[in-house]
Amino acid sequence: MGHTCSAIIVHCIDFRLGPAISDWLKSEKLMGDCDIVGIAGAAKNFNGEKDEDVLMTQIEISSKLHEIKKVILMNHTDCGAYGGRAAFENREVEDTTHSDALSHGADVLKEKLPHLEVQKMIAQIEPDGTIHIESII
Ligand SMILES: [Zn+2]
Repeated sequence: MGHTCSAIIVHCIDFRLGPAISDWLKSEKLMGDCDIVGIAGAAKNFNGEKDEDVLMTQIEISSKLHEIKKVILMNHTDCGAYGGRAAFENREVEDTTHSDALSHGADVLKEKLPHLEVQKMIAQIEPDGTIHIESII
């Protein structure tokens, strides 16, 4: 009959994130307990256009079918959908841009699906390629 899970994660398609996201999901005990959406730019898609419809449809299906409690929105630095690291004057501006996009996405979700908790995350891709996944309050 029904099968349920705890959460859905929305992250960028960027292949560099794969191992770090996998490790993070394991550490959060969400591996195998989380629906997964890969979409370029992640929270950038809350833009009031068809990208937002596509993303919302996935989250709504996850909510209805798998009765998730939480949406994890994860952006990352050096994201091609934002023009990469070079598009930003400095790291602070880049971090703020992602933080703002995540907050906007969280606001849209809270309005449309108020029963779901939203967790905002950023995967920091360092110049040497290491990745740190951090929570954004
Ligand atoms: Zn990306």
